[in-house]
Amino acid sequence: MNSKHISTLAVHAGTASPASATEPKVLPIVASSVWSFDSLAQLDDVYENKVPGFVYSRISNPTVELLEQAVGMLEGGAAAAYASGMAAIATAIFAEVRQGDHIVAHHVLYGGTYALLKNEMAKLGVEVTFVDCNDLSAVAQAIRPNTKILYLETICNPLMEVLDIPAIVQLARTVKAKVYVDNTFASPYHCQPLAHGADVVLHSATKYLNGHSDAMAGVIVADSDFIAKAKNVGTTYGATLSPFDAWLTLRGLKTLALRMHRHAENALALAKYLQVHPKVTGVNYPGLESTKTHGCAKKLLQNGFGGMLSFTVQGGLAGARTVIDSLEMVKLVPSLAGPATTTSHPAKTSHRAMPAAEREACGVSDGLIRVSVGLEEAADIIADFDQALAKL
Ligand SMILES: *Cc1c(COP(=O)(O)O)cnc(C)c1O
Repeated sequence: MNSKHISTLAVHAGTASPASATEPKVLPIVASSVWSFDSLAQLDDVYENKVPGFVYSRISNPTVELLEQAVGMLEGGAAAAYASGMAAIATAIFAEVRQGDHIVAHHVLYGGTYALLKNEMAKLGVEVTFVDCNDLSAVAQAIRPNTKILYLETICNPLMEVLDIPAIVQLARTVKAKVYVDNTFASPYHCQPLAHGADVVLHSATKYLNGHSDAMAGVIVADSDFIAKAKNVGTTYGATLSPFDAWLTLRGLKTLALRMHRHAENALALAKYLQVHPKVTGVNYPGLESTKTHGCAKKLLQNGFGGMLSFTVQGGLAGARTVIDSLEMVKLVPSLAGPATTTSHPAKTSHRAMPAAEREACGVSDGLIRVSVGLEEAADIIADFDQALAKL
């Protein structure tokens, strides 16, 4: 008989690692919030980085670290993972700017990022200039001696433009500003922005890196100095990624190349179908020669042009409503990058916070429908759009 009482046993039983000379093929989810130490000397050594070890999961966690290693390897840098794409973006920005600094950002961005730059930076005393970064002379004019960040997206949501990142990097260098690139839509399968001169890469890992619409995560990739700085800030703000979501994202990541290949193949097929449809007034897909920034897309993207496209239908909001509501297999889902083809209406979702006039001026019209092209058979996706467009 164990001499301890049942209340004590209930607390302390089942807490030692089982002995094993073999490693699990898939590493377990380490859900522990905190680690225990053999001695005060060992605690000192871990804090001083004299021996490897973990202390507290807001600072670091083995499962989260595996995801960081994996994404860092795919993007070619060091990485830090957070609770969402927005957490990663905010942490990376807060790590770089202080009162009196200035940011230049492309005028069409993911809605959450736009809100962060537009509404939150002013509270810190950081000025933000939004500019159409397709116009390099406008970018040069917007840059000031105190500009610290040029903020871009590889494939810009929702018009799918591909900016000339190397040329923008050149301009940023004149004032030693860092170029931040949100690589969510391209994923490292299609583009590795660090290789094109960018300083900081951001991901909503909620999207293609995970790819299954079942976890939220975000990742910053940069050189190890920047990542160390970002980790200090991230630990303070506390937007910690849960080990379970890190594990799911790591699981999804294994099929990234297979999925992206198929997403891109299907998106090109749908784009070509839509391009010649009489009820469709415009298609935005980087892989189409008719798309304005196709030249930059060919220069920067590899292995195809991604799974995201958008198109404008006749009839404005009413037209978009008819098509979206008539689709049968393809559901209205205000996110992207899952296995299923989904639509979104940028004016009513991601760009809802943007004033209507500003929105229309940069091409996010009421008739614009965004499509996250999934992994189904292309013919089935096209058939659904075909019957829905016939209702117009
Ligand atoms: C979704 C998304 C984000 C925000 O990521 P969350 O994981 O939702 O916080 C940022 N950038 C882009 C391009 C996105 O699509």
